[in-house]
Amino acid sequence: MYGLMNNEYYTNFLEISEKAIKKNEGPGLFKTSQGKPSQFLDMEETAGRFRTMLQRTIENLDEELARFEKNFSNKNNAVFWASDYQDVFASLKKIFKSQKVRSVRLPNVNASTIFRELGIKYFLREEKIELREDGDVQFFVADMMLADIGALLLLNQSNNSFSRLTNDKTNIFFTTIDRIMCNSNWAEVYQQLATYRSGGNQQEMVFFKSASNCNNYLFIIDNQRTQLLNNKELRQSLTCLQCGRCQDVCPVLQTIGEEPYNNVFTGPIAHITLPYLESMESYKHIIYACLLCGRCEEVCPISLPIRDMIVDSRHILFVNGEVEKKERHLLATQRKVLLSRSKMNASKFVKNVMMGKYFTSEFKKTRRLPAFNTDTFNKMYQKFKNSQ
Ligand code: SF4
Ligand code: SF4
Repeated sequence: MYGLMNNEYYTNFLEISEKAIKKNEGPGLFKTSQGKPSQFLDMEETAGRFRTMLQRTIENLDEELARFEKNFSNKNNAVFWASDYQDVFASLKKIFKSQKVRSVRLPNVNASTIFRELGIKYFLREEKIELREDGDVQFFVADMMLADIGALLLLNQSNNSFSRLTNDKTNIFFTTIDRIMCNSNWAEVYQQLATYRSGGNQQEMVFFKSASNCNNYLFIIDNQRTQLLNNKELRQSLTCLQCGRCQDVCPVLQTIGEEPYNNVFTGPIAHITLPYLESMESYKHIIYACLLCGRCEEVCPISLPIRDMIVDSRHILFVNGEVEKKERHLLATQRKVLLSRSKMNASKFVKNVMMGKYFTSEFKKTRRLPAFNTDTFNKMYQKFKNSQ
């Protein structure tokens, strides 16, 4: 069974949603007029409930993944668990050999984060596999796994790619362990929230369960995500929809650009995830590349507490001894000052002298130290209170 919008499966999906309204499960907030969904009654409330569902899924990830695999697997569908890109490539080589694959149709190789994360383009080049419109097999990104119905949710990745889902002999899907929802009733909410860059609902959505005339292979990739899962404070970063809203407003990303990240993941959520997805040693500096301004949280459709997670990450670094002696001393002094009302109320002159002492001459060579306000902390706080 497979489904495109407006066909039989989609009709079933609407029926499921209506049942959910009656049972008060899932979003339950569709306005249906003439049998079609139009919009959600209260998007803010819906997004809040959606986030709760995602968190529940991540908290029970092992069970939900097992449930998905059980519901998805059949004689046409095979699931491959891959701990990293080497696992993926080893299995791909076997599939290519058994199916005599010489060419692949790979939609949006540069736009899809997962393909860039795996470096699939280089692997195909090494294996001398051609990229062609009429390739022997087609690669798809599975945007979400729907555990309850054992189906994949795909948002349109390139023109006409969906029409080939049931025409090709072999389909190969790629996803990561965190792209899963326990309840398929939320699919349309996901589509609306996740496709910000491409205009929300305009992206075509497909549910893929099986197609009897095709061999379907699904790669479920970890690539260090379990490192985040093991961390109680940071695991909710795995519920990020990768919608990109926060990237458009983050002053750090806007100022330094994507290059310094040297990675496919950039922007606010990368400040939390990169040290775990890559290595702490190479990426711990990124945890400090945040002003805690909160702009990202203001636009995040699922209100992820990004600042709290960044502060938790810094705390974890500190208690694990990952902070150098010099920095530990600086942080300890900062803490002391911030907790002392008399130091915060010191004059501008005293503060400037103190600040000058803190920062090394190396730092001052390339950056100007901030100028202190002439008002004391108490006065500024009073003004702030009066302006509320
Ligand atoms: S809180 Fe940090 S990550 Fe978020 S927008 Fe501000 S600087 Fe960027
Ligand atoms: S953190 Fe929020 S705004 Fe940023 S990409 Fe993830 S879901 Fe979108």
